Amino acid sequence: MARKVPLKNVRNIGIMAHIDAGKTTVSERILYYTGRSHKLGEVHDGAATMDWMEQEQERGITITSAATTCMWKDHMISLIDTPGHVDFTMEVERALRVLDGAIALYCAVGGVQPQSETVWHQSERYEVPKIAFVNKMDRIGADYFGVVEGIQNMLGANAVPVVIPIGASEDFVGVIDLIRMKALYFNEDAKGMEWDEKDIPADLLESAKEWRNNLVEKCAEQDEAMMEKFFEEGDLSEDEIWTILRKATCAREVVPVFCGSAFKNKGVQQLLDGVIKILPAPNEIPPIICTKNPDNQRKVDDNEVFSALSFKIMSDKHMGKLTYLRVYSGTLEAGSTIWNSTQQKKQRIGRLLRMHSNRQEAIDAAVAGDIVAVAGLDATKTGDTLCTQDNEIHLEAMEFPAPVISIS
Ligand code: GDP
Repeated sequence: MARKVPLKNVRNIGIMAHIDAGKTTVSERILYYTGRSHKLGEVHDGAATMDWMEQEQERGITITSAATTCMWKDHMISLIDTPGHVDFTMEVERALRVLDGAIALYCAVGGVQPQSETVWHQSERYEVPKIAFVNKMDRIGADYFGVVEGIQNMLGANAVPVVIPIGASEDFVGVIDLIRMKALYFNEDAKGMEWDEKDIPADLLESAKEWRNNLVEKCAEQDEAMMEKFFEEGDLSEDEIWTILRKATCAREVVPVFCGSAFKNKGVQQLLDGVIKILPAPNEIPPIICTKNPDNQRKVDDNEVFSALSFKIMSDKHMGKLTYLRVYSGTLEAGSTIWNSTQQKKQRIGRLLRMHSNRQEAIDAAVAGDIVAVAGLDATKTGDTLCTQDNEIHLEAMEFPAPVISIS
């Protein structure tokens, strides 16, 4: 079966981080929460849910795949592995080419470290919209606003807090959601995704108002009508703020900042909401242009002629060689024969797999926007283009224009 989720609900993202900032922990929490919420949606028998959770906890969730797909609130998120080490610069570049948005992850104590600068600039070259997550807020010396300033000063980005922390270090208990103007107190329990929602404490109210104004103003700058409304009425609605935040982020005019402690199960849930509400869907990027013939363009659309880019090859102990593809346009069917335009060779597609954290799902077809693994692609190398022989395209060194989001 091909993908059931509409293209507008697909997010292909990566996490860019300096080593040790907590990429593995954040990824594991994402997979844990998404696995659990998806399971909870499907399974109505409480006992079955418990069994699944215990199994997961015993085994521990490991992310060994180059791309892991998960579900969060009707959205399909593919988490594409973006290596954090400077030695893997080429690999980082390849991963950045196939994702539509990224989470830039920072340690609340370490801040913007040299490695984060390198990856940041690479991602800017590929025009990848980003949201930031300041992790390890529970550590002694955690300095959220210091990291926000670091993103501004060292990376030249217009970092705008979407949340502000309540407390720091061992007193870090929650965040103020500046869009909803509510205080959220997280449940530290590893099984819990819940939080208590309360009014903002009186001593933080003034600063919360100032930060909310800052957020609205910086986003509204990107939209004349909203700016006018903001000046006339003094504020915007929750929906309006999400809309302009998304528009400004996708245009790479702002970088929304969230915070938490992955280790203590705080804040990653808000980050996931941020991913689906702010980062672009695959069809929000302009048509992909052939690197050898600019007139040959493909829209990210199932009805276009097939094209895909191979971005990683891994060896799987059961499946053998697995080639990870990003499908840009059209449909790729299991068992079909396609054309590798880089190698000028026909290639037979074996099994098509969607990789989840705890299983591989065999699928009949992959469609535009999908990230899938293919078994049996003998001649295809990393960076090759796959397409149809009679309508050849080359995506090898393609340029990635910034996404265009319409606001209406
Ligand atoms: P990676 O190198 O970026 O993948 O980082 P890891 O996820 O492996 O984390 C590095 C270390 O930081 C590990 O010892 C984690 O347990 C720890 N860590 C990750 N997140 C947090 C956090 O939110 N708070 C604290 N105190 N430690 C964390």
